[in-house]
Amino acid sequence: MAITTKDLQHLFALIAADIAANRDHLCELDGAIGDGDHGLAMDAGCEAAVKAVAALDPAQAAPTAAFNAAAKAFLNAVGASSGPLYATAFMRAGAAVKDRQELGDEEFVRAFAAMAEGIQDRGKAEPGEKTMVDAWKPAADAALDAVASGASLQQCFGLAEQAARQGCDATRDMTAAKGRASRLGDRVIGHIDPGAASAAIIIASIAKFAQPHNG
Ligand code: ADP
Ligand code: MG
Repeated sequence: MAITTKDLQHLFALIAADIAANRDHLCELDGAIGDGDHGLAMDAGCEAAVKAVAALDPAQAAPTAAFNAAAKAFLNAVGASSGPLYATAFMRAGAAVKDRQELGDEEFVRAFAAMAEGIQDRGKAEPGEKTMVDAWKPAADAALDAVASGASLQQCFGLAEQAARQGCDATRDMTAAKGRASRLGDRVIGHIDPGAASAAIIIASIAKFAQPHNG
């Protein structure tokens, strides 16, 4: 399956719809251990990103331009910490696919892994610190391992989705070392991290996109 800018327009639309459907739930999660705006921030960011990507002419714009447009739009739309984290993620994905007109399976997985790396570089969070990294890092590792052993894109992202869900669930028992929740000490134990929850939703959207009938 070769992924084009047109496919990425479809992917961003899928992500934006799934985040919009979970907006209130994400705000509730953030209300418990943060300031309650995570659903609004992600919804605004994804909505801006999908609009910016949709505005591109797929005959003229390469996938790198789609990721860069998403990065800029997301950053401009979001004042919360998720803004620069996802803007960096999309920028890194764009850099990973520079000069390519369409993306093969391995290139698409590399772009996905570049997003996870970008989030880690920008936020300096390690796994276990109760952030979105707890969903992104194991998902990226699972997809990279799977593609290296010859798995299909569908299999890669099925495994990534599963890893992201497990990573997200595991944040429930953690204390937070980064972000707002880090000020609350043990009071955050028992609550899922909102950023890990939205990451698991996005990664599930990508898994949906990677199913053959979406390609
Ligand atoms: P804010 O905390 O500014 O209101 P959001 O509510 O949009 O931002 O996002 C909160 C989420 O951001 C957290 O649940 C966590 O997953 C993530 N986060 C915060 N700081 C970091 C960081 N340094 N690295 C990675 N993720 C982070
Ligand atoms: Mg918040």
